[in-house]
Amino acid sequence: AAKTEERNAFRFYSPRMQADARRRIALASELRTALSENEFHLVFQPTVEMRSGRIVAVEALLRWRHPRRGEIPPGEFIPMAEKLGLIRRIDQWVLQAACTQMYLWDRAGVPPLRMAVNVSAHWFGQANFVDDIRALLESRRLAPERLMLEITEGAILRLGEEMERTLYTLNALGVGVAIDDFGTGYSSMSYLKLRAIAYLKIDRSFVTGLPEDSSDGAIVEAMLTLCRNLDITPIAEGIETEEQHRFLLRAGCTEGQGFLYSRPVEPEAIVQMLGAERRAVSPHLRLVPPEV
Ligand code: C2E
Ligand code: MG
Ligand code: MG
Ligand code: MG
Repeated sequence: AAKTEERNAFRFYSPRMQADARRRIALASELRTALSENEFHLVFQPTVEMRSGRIVAVEALLRWRHPRRGEIPPGEFIPMAEKLGLIRRIDQWVLQAACTQMYLWDRAGVPPLRMAVNVSAHWFGQANFVDDIRALLESRRLAPERLMLEITEGAILRLGEEMERTLYTLNALGVGVAIDDFGTGYSSMSYLKLRAIAYLKIDRSFVTGLPEDSSDGAIVEAMLTLCRNLDITPIAEGIETEEQHRFLLRAGCTEGQGFLYSRPVEPEAIVQMLGAERRAVSPHLRLVPPEV
């Protein structure tokens, strides 16, 4: 036992881990000032209607451009922001920036899209959440139907009755709610009985193995059946190949997102994709703007 301890102790203090720990501590303190220092910006990934290739929505994805360390991926700093209690202010910033972007696109005559924004449970669970959303939409002159909020299964589980109320109020307002990374959380599906979920995003981990992996195929088909019967719009995540696109289309998936169509891009690139040129964003699929 002593030997194992010794070995563990040695591993714990390995230079690599020490450097990782130092980086985490430094990042945590730098994250506190990232908002005020203007180090965040948004990129946007198109969602397409699978049948036509038409761009119907974009998802706002947060980027942190650190002055010295370069781009820090959200997978690293979002969990950190949650632990440090910074996520609510960050989510508020993202939502405002995303709605402002829509407002600017509208004024520039860009065809109207749906905007998907990721929100964590910390803000979604607050009593004044829906009031904040309503005020923001009004100030940017946006119809509520233009906004879609993505929350994970884990988040919905933690919210309880507060969550039910929020879901119903958002529904009444017309803001669509999506379950993000569907199938990866430790959650029951009982929230689906509320009939207040408009979209399910099928997680990339079930899409990657398509069409060869028969388990992935069976799971995805079951999810699509569930969506059809509950009148929920399915959105497949992480589509990278034409084979995956074909499988999902045939299985009845309505909308898709992934590198096959487009990576997350700067706002100017979205305007170009929707512009008069009607340029294809994937060499394999001709993407066209939505009908106005
Ligand atoms: P998510 O909401 O599930 O976003 C999808 C992620 O998959 C994005 O990573 C996107 O770049 C990536 N992706 C899209 N298509 C493909 C594909 O075809 N192949 C592969 N390999 N990846 C693809 P990203 O931008 O690094 O974001 C990671 C996660 O961080 C997001 O997962 C979301 O949970 C969180 N996140 C991002 N922005 C925000 C935000 O503004 N607020 C909050 N609370 N969370 C955010
Ligand atoms: Mg998302
Ligand atoms: Mg997702
Ligand atoms: Mg995912």
